[in-house]
Amino acid sequence: MPKKKQPSVVKEILSAPALENAVQTVPAETNAAGWDDSREALFDSQAVGPAYEIARPVEQVACIRGFMIDLDLNILNPDVLGAKALTSSQAFYDQHVKVWLDRDPVLTKGEVRDTGHGLHILLWLGQPIICSGDDNRHWDNIARGIRNALPGDPKVNGINAMTRPVGTTNNKESPAAPVRCLREGQPVTREEILDLNRRVSEEPAPLWMRLFNGADRVTPCPVCKREGSSLGVAGKWQCRCYKCGQVHASVLIFRVFRYFSGRAGVV
Ligand SMILES: [Zn+2]
Repeated sequence: MPKKKQPSVVKEILSAPALENAVQTVPAETNAAGWDDSREALFDSQAVGPAYEIARPVEQVACIRGFMIDLDLNILNPDVLGAKALTSSQAFYDQHVKVWLDRDPVLTKGEVRDTGHGLHILLWLGQPIICSGDDNRHWDNIARGIRNALPGDPKVNGINAMTRPVGTTNNKESPAAPVRCLREGQPVTREEILDLNRRVSEEPAPLWMRLFNGADRVTPCPVCKREGSSLGVAGKWQCRCYKCGQVHASVLIFRVFRYFSGRAGVV
């Protein structure tokens, strides 16, 4: 089929000096794949658009609509989660994330989006939190704390986080992938967010044992896996296995990350 001839009006637009100038002022990094992918803000008016249009610094967030945990398959540990579970967002959700969420009264209300190369867990507030004074920094710390309930990407923003709208395409990594909703969420309250944050920051041992292992005691111990071993909660920050001794709560979550180096934290 012969190439369609461009209408002259298009030629005129393409050669217009204003457009040439506009192109020249676009920053170099905009050549990166997916640079103009659509995002959805979890703050203010929940704007949808490219990140360069809707992103805001923490200090400018006036209204918090929700909190996000970003589960990036690339930073998770196949030795713990299984290589098959990390082959796709859907497999990871089916084999692990669904189970983890169903074990917690707050996380179970999270919406789950397959962002193409990972999962966003979205805790949408029924009533937004209005920020004034130093509230932004306070709630930003809470947003960053909450993502430690699960092995969330530590590099993702707090209250100024952005997700990807369902029905759009993630072009950042190859191959491009559709953004889909895997689980409908339910609204959460400010009190539920504070409760989850309290459990992460003050009682992580029982929280992570229940999330990742489903009980306060599990057999065999998932750290040493030795025959006859078991690991149980032994305080707010400690677990104990009679084979490997005291296990700091942080081991329960660090081991889910790819770069965790063995037995650090086991004393
Ligand atoms: Zn052990």
